[in-house]
Amino acid sequence: MLPPKTVPTELTTLIRDLQEALGAENVLHLPEDLAVYEYDATIERARPDVVVFPATSEDVAAAVRIAVQHDVPVVPRGSGTGLSGGAVPILGGVLIVLTRMNRILEIDADNRVAVVQPGVINLHLQGALEPFGLLYAPDPSSQRVCTIGGNIANNSGGPHTLAHGSTVNHVLAIEVVLPDGRVVRLGSRVPDAPGIDLRGLLVGSEGTLGIVTEATLRLVRKSPATRTLLAIFESVADASEAVSTVIRRGVIPVAMEMLDQEIIRIVEPRINAGYPLDAGAVLLIEVEGVADGVAADSAVVEQACRDTGAREVRSADEAAERERLWEGRKAAIGAIGGAAPAFYLLDGVVPRTKLPQVMTRVQELCREYGFSCANVFHAGDGNLHPNIMFDPTVPGATERVLELGGAIMRACVDAGGSITGEHGIGLEKRSYMEWVFSEADLEAMRAVREAFGPSDRFNPCKMLPGGHGCASGHAAELDAHLAAGAYV
Ligand SMILES: Cc1cc2nc3c(=O)[nH]c(=O)nc-3n(C[C@H](O)[C@H](O)[C@H](O)COP(=O)(O)OP(=O)(O)OC[C@H]3O[C@@H](n4cnc5c(N)ncnc54)[C@H](O)[C@@H]3O)c2cc1C
Repeated sequence: MLPPKTVPTELTTLIRDLQEALGAENVLHLPEDLAVYEYDATIERARPDVVVFPATSEDVAAAVRIAVQHDVPVVPRGSGTGLSGGAVPILGGVLIVLTRMNRILEIDADNRVAVVQPGVINLHLQGALEPFGLLYAPDPSSQRVCTIGGNIANNSGGPHTLAHGSTVNHVLAIEVVLPDGRVVRLGSRVPDAPGIDLRGLLVGSEGTLGIVTEATLRLVRKSPATRTLLAIFESVADASEAVSTVIRRGVIPVAMEMLDQEIIRIVEPRINAGYPLDAGAVLLIEVEGVADGVAADSAVVEQACRDTGAREVRSADEAAERERLWEGRKAAIGAIGGAAPAFYLLDGVVPRTKLPQVMTRVQELCREYGFSCANVFHAGDGNLHPNIMFDPTVPGATERVLELGGAIMRACVDAGGSITGEHGIGLEKRSYMEWVFSEADLEAMRAVREAFGPSDRFNPCKMLPGGHGCASGHAAELDAHLAAGAYV
């Protein structure tokens, strides 16, 4: 997309009003600055008209009210690590970046509650909780960079949400700016708030219903003992079988992560985590609790893995050893960036018992389409993340990758699963929503969205199919549509 040659008058007044309300230093509008904010971690792209950096909830509310007066859309953004195009401002407008609202306001260790601003980085919170022996359970693999606000908007998961549940289970209350600029507080610091659970509705709403400006989070105690097991298999199918077998035998580990051979060969030479290069797949399994319980559960896990074909099961109790094993998992997706010109990361979910069959189908589909595919995922949740590697400079490659992505999502749905396990629908998967919801289901969701405000105000063209001015499909297809629009 080309930057505008002239700035229309309406945009000049929008910028001026935002500068007056938030301070000129907190407003970006030059094309070279805006370019940095036109994408997240997907292949989707679209340029905002203006980017603002609020410092307070009042700043957010003021920016929203100004956007309403100028009749332009608003898109909230955290760190931009999203994997569904959620923070990509597809119809332009005001991008509200929450990363400067990054203070931890309170840690109440006795009541196991933390109050944070939305721009707090997930791992910074974990670090601050460390001295109290507490943790915030949702730990996306992007936790070094992603924000709590983004986690809430996407109801993010992570390796340790297998035992603890995803973000929605750990958010007690939120302060939210609504599409008309009002500020409301939803949920309560103590459990089971009376009334309609609007807190639950907001979590996972991908910035379409409100902008989270403060969050009260539930904390959990760190377990006294932790053991990390590395189970080494000849095939993904065997490792997938082990996942169900472990749980069938009555143990729910806190984490069960799968890495296939392709990803092991990418990550191991770079990170040196100790994964064998000749393995067909490894499972990284973590067991927590009191020491005796950990020993007993680990024995069950180890036996289940051996019974399903593991050739070796290693175990690590010391923090440094465990961290080394985890480093490979946490760095895996980033490492693909050094192995291929580009990759397309998919997110699907299937009933855990269907993993062997669906993973076999994923491998077949990648072969059929002629792309290498590296898999690393939260296997315990039945969540799969194929990473399709490709060269976008090859004519037609991007289109074929998107087609392959669709075929993989279809395989998940056909196996009784769904089109996202944790990354959200965003821009990327709107058109697949009809595969999993009836028209009546979607109408009910649209009605909820309309109750909060007009659907073209907060994060338009996200999550639900259709919408005023929204084309279906990916941002690349929307370029022509946008070229005719205002400011672009
Ligand atoms: C290497 C890598 C690993 C990842 N691993 C995981 C994983 O294990 N589990 C997982 O679930 N995800 C994972 N992700 C995806 C991503 O990190 C998460 O979705 C994360 O929660 C996004 O946070 P963010 O701050 O980057 O949000 P952004 O990408 O900036 O925004 C994401 C969505 O949230 C909305 N939003 C942001 N802030 C707010 C707010 N304050 N109020 C309302 N809406 C808001 C945006 O509009 C957008 O729709 C991974 C991504 C990468 C790149």
